[in-house]
Amino acid sequence: MFKEIRRQITLFNTLILIAFLLLFILLLVFLIQWSFQRSGEKALINAAQHIRNENLSFYEDKEEDYDKPAFHGDIGTEFIVWDLNGNADRMHIVNDDLIMEGYELSLDTSFNNSFKTFKTGDRTYRVYSASYYDDDQKKIIQVFQEIDTEQNVISYLVFFLLFIGSGGILLLIPISYILAGKSLQPIKETFENQKKFIADASHELRTPLTVIQTNVEVLRLKEDEVLADNIKWLNNIGNESESMSKLVSQLLTIAQSDNNKIVFEKKLFDLSALCAEIIDLMVDVAKDKNITLNGEIESGIDYEGDEEKLKQAIRILVDNAIKYTPSGGRVDLILKDGIRFVSVSVKDTGVGLSPEDQKKIFSRFYRVDDARNRESGGFGLGLNIADMAVKHHGGRIKLQSVPDEGSTFTIVLPK
Ligand code: ADP
Repeated sequence: MFKEIRRQITLFNTLILIAFLLLFILLLVFLIQWSFQRSGEKALINAAQHIRNENLSFYEDKEEDYDKPAFHGDIGTEFIVWDLNGNADRMHIVNDDLIMEGYELSLDTSFNNSFKTFKTGDRTYRVYSASYYDDDQKKIIQVFQEIDTEQNVISYLVFFLLFIGSGGILLLIPISYILAGKSLQPIKETFENQKKFIADASHELRTPLTVIQTNVEVLRLKEDEVLADNIKWLNNIGNESESMSKLVSQLLTIAQSDNNKIVFEKKLFDLSALCAEIIDLMVDVAKDKNITLNGEIESGIDYEGDEEKLKQAIRILVDNAIKYTPSGGRVDLILKDGIRFVSVSVKDTGVGLSPEDQKKIFSRFYRVDDARNRESGGFGLGLNIADMAVKHHGGRIKLQSVPDEGSTFTIVLPK
């Protein structure tokens, strides 16, 4: 699928480049032609003026100081002055075909004080025709200018630009293909992650469902027995449903966050009180595992943010610290106020994390010891959810950890 999109982007880019190149050439040719024509016409009018004034030295001395543009060196070398009887009064013609052409043009009364382009033999000419009075006699002056050089220059230019442009486009196609691949990379990664997420979520849901189904089957076989004797199967079903419900609610949080559907209610709240409340909530869980849960909480720290989401994030960290610290260990919740930041650290003396795992644990469904952690009820989503909540507040979670010594997760929140 991505290969096809990449090919289509490259094709689209190439077509745009070709369209731009053609537009550029067309514009350039138009401008050059327009400029040649303008300067040529100006020079023709100028030359006709000189001829009318019988300044014939103009034709003999090419160095004469007149408005002579680069491509119009031959201007004025060919001209005919007709009288009203159709006789050539004066002329200077190199190409004899021009006499016949000039005669026909002199009969056209509408062609006066204007320019025409015509082809005779293999040459193209621009001609200027104007009538004037010489000793009360009406005369028509025609000045011819050969414009093949002009047209050749334009043709060469078009050829040259097309050649260079096509070469450039040929060179740009692979570059465009590589760039399209690079720009598609993040979309590809998101797509792959989404696919993996769906696969992982289905896998996680399948496990408790299978357990529930098996336990229901067992209970069906024990139809005639007393319920009290089979409470174990019911407890299994209850536990699995609970864990499934936890997973579904975590999945919902993630999906909402991905779709930017989570509403963050920002208000000022007492962060010190919140940390103290979390300690109160967790102290018994810690005690059950023979872990000391200790608080080092600076009092009176108010923070503006979503109290519920931050409570959930801190709870996930404390919950993990207790979960991954062996019996007899210690967990500290430390709240500190800074100039620009407030920090909440959760420090444990637990199993710790290797540098490789430290990079991965914020990814969805990542568990260090998959089999063991499945037992402990985690789906590898907690840290991802905590991270998202902290990021929504413009903060981040820092991690310091040494395997077998312990870890410190620090939520840094901007004030
Ligand atoms: P889970 O629900 O599995 O705990 P989390 O996203 O909260 O998922 O954590 C991901 C993994 O990171 C855990 O499975 C665990 O292996 C590791 N982890 C998290 N917190 C700690 C900690 N305090 N000490 C050691 N390992 C931890």
